[in-house]
Formats: sequence, structure tokens, C-alpha cells
Amino acid sequence: MEKKRAPFAKWMGNSNEITRLFLKAGQIPDMINLAGGLPEASVYPASELADIAKQVINKNPEETLGYCPIEGLPTLRDAIAKKFSKGNLKLSRENILIVTGAMQSLDLVGKVLLDDGARIAVQDPTYLGALDAWRPRHPTLVPMNIHGHNFNPASLLENTQFAYTVPNFSNPTGSLVSKECRQQLVDTSNDCGTWLVEDDPYGVLYYDSDPIPSMLELSADENNDCYEGNVIYMGTLSKEIAPGLRLGWVISAPEMINALATAKQGSDLCTSGLSQQITLEAINNGLMEKILPNILAIYKSRRDGLCAAMEAYLKPYFTWEKPVGGMFVWAIAKDPKLNTDILLEYALDHGVCVTPSSVFDPNGEYRKAIRINFTHNPLETLEQGIKRLAKATEQLKL
Ligand code: PMP
Repeated sequence: MEKKRAPFAKWMGNSNEITRLFLKAGQIPDMINLAGGLPEASVYPASELADIAKQVINKNPEETLGYCPIEGLPTLRDAIAKKFSKGNLKLSRENILIVTGAMQSLDLVGKVLLDDGARIAVQDPTYLGALDAWRPRHPTLVPMNIHGHNFNPASLLENTQFAYTVPNFSNPTGSLVSKECRQQLVDTSNDCGTWLVEDDPYGVLYYDSDPIPSMLELSADENNDCYEGNVIYMGTLSKEIAPGLRLGWVISAPEMINALATAKQGSDLCTSGLSQQITLEAINNGLMEKILPNILAIYKSRRDGLCAAMEAYLKPYFTWEKPVGGMFVWAIAKDPKLNTDILLEYALDHGVCVTPSSVFDPNGEYRKAIRINFTHNPLETLEQGIKRLAKATEQLKL
């Protein structure tokens, strides 16, 4: 007898074929994975974290192992407020929500700002996780070509609920948004009342220059002791310490923090108290500052190694710009007919996995580029992966 079962929600039908291919890739032995946005595991400060975890559990069993306030531990909210207060930007506890990774921030923003069909302006191409988080709310996506010569946010942001950008080393392109462009977005959001989502997991990964001020900083009013601007800033420990802690924070106006906390209650009640206590201790004892130079040195040399291997083997097929930070190189096919969804299948057969551009396109159509990660693999593996990719591209073109 046929089993009767309620169907899945309609949005589930919108997932793409590429996700299926990635699942397959994970099971292939000797696969070189240049697709994920993964850190190098050896940079996780394992023994320091183990010591801190033991110490904070023994010291505060109730706060580490019990439920916490939805908004996060007051002590951690204060510590984040202090850490990010700078120049005109003065933050108080009411400006901070502790979340379970930046991915939760994206999900919660969708919950509090999107009714079915609502308009969002998105930096194009867009982080796949953000598209995934908002897909169940059927938004209307307005792509923004932030680096285009005629970029004019006024016409794009009008009547949108929010504009989404990753200004520091975009995922997927690795590009950096200029200070002028950040200011333009802030000014336009003030004019039209749209929220500005500033997703910033890569903000500490500058390899060649000093950081550009965040839109959060650019939108601050020096006369206020509490931030009241339009930016919804998202931070995370995932690239600075370890993604497994699942610890992030939102910085925004108290009105937005309260709305997000209401949504968080129906999502996970609270972020792990253990992770929060570990983070507080890590901030207080300067753990991030201690380990960052090593992370930057490893990633910078891998960025250089990947670009050198691409120069040696991929030049006939792709163009790219060397990123000045972050985790990715975005390579665009020289041949306009090359379809990178199909290239992925050839690449998997050659034992290497990269991410094709279609998954980052708000319309799912752009198939000329690939995202290559350089942080997760050692130099020799990066070179081997690029050699395999070159062979796969050659074969596809035959
Ligand atoms: N936003 C962007 C742009 C990302 O690249 C990522 C992770 N790769 C996230 C958010 C999610 O980060 P988290 O691990 O803090 O959930």
C-alpha cells in the first residue's frame, strides 16, 4: 500500500543540482576540495580553548551549562560593545545581540524583515548562505553591481527592506568595497530608510593594507552614546578563532536588536553559554590578537601560492584579480561559452572540487566563473588542485 505523507514546503523545490554534486564530491576519495570556505584546521587554538573551557565550566557551571538570556550574556554583550566602539561609534549593551554564528544573523534578519515577495537589494554575486536563508520567504532580489562604473544605489535601494553586502572580501569574489562606495550606501540608506546588512566574517583578513572603515562606523553619530543608525552589522568568531564555537554577534540599533531577539526566541532560545563564556574569556585575555598574525601569514602565503599556480596552469582559460584579503579567488572564463556548472562535473572526475558561479547568482543563471578557496589546503595541494582543474578545463574544451 502506498504510504500517505504530507509534502515538503514549496520552497524546497527550488534547491539546485550543484548541491547534489557537492554531496557526491564529499564521498570521493583523494578529492582536493577547493570549494568550501573552510579555515586551516591547525590554526584553531585547541589547547588554549580546552584550558579556557575547563576553567569557565568549573567557575560558572550555571552560566555555561544552563540556558542564557536570549540576547546573550550581559558580560559578553558589554565586552563586544567595548571592543567595537571606535571614534564616533559608541556602543552600549542594547546594541548587541549574541547569535549562533553569522548564519543565524542572516536567518533572523529574514524572519524580522521579510514578508512574502519583499524586495532586497543584494551585492551581485551574493553569498549562497544568505540566498539559502531567505529563500523560504520568497523575496524579490534586486542585484547590485557594486563595482560597476555607474553604480547608483539610489535607484536600487528604493522600496527595498534591506541592502545586503559583504564589503570586506566578498564571498564569492574576494573583492573589497571602497570607502566611497560604503559611504554612498550609508547615505542612500539614510535617504530611503532601507536597512543596510553588513555581513563581515572576513574583516580581520586583510593581507596587504589597513582596514577600510565599516559602514557601521561610517553611519555612527558622534552625539549618540548608543548606535541608532540603519546598519545591521554581523560579526563571527568563525574565521578568527573557530567555526565550531558557533558564536557570532549582531550590532545594530536597539529597535532592531529587540526584533531579532524576539525572532531568536523562536529559533534556538539562546546561544550556547559555554561558547559565550569561552568568547568572553578569549576577548579578555587577547586570544584573537595573539593568534591572528599566524593566521594572516599562512593565508597570505597560500593566496600567493594559489595565484602563482593559477598563473602557471589556468591562464589560457581564466582571468582573475589577486584578492587583497579573505579566502577566495574568483576566476572568470575567457571563453564565453564555457559553462562552469558542466566544468564542475569534469573537475570532480579529475579529483578536484570548486564552486561554480551559478549558486551565487540571485537569478541562478551566471555560469562563467568559479570560486576557488585558498585557506584550507597546504601549498602543494593547492598546486595539485589547480593542475587537475586545468586538465579538466582542457578536456571540457576539446
Ligand atoms: N556570511 C558569509 C559571507 C560567510 O562567508 C559565512 C561563512 N562562510 C557566513 C556568513 C556564516 O558564518 P558563520 O560560520 O559565522 O555562521
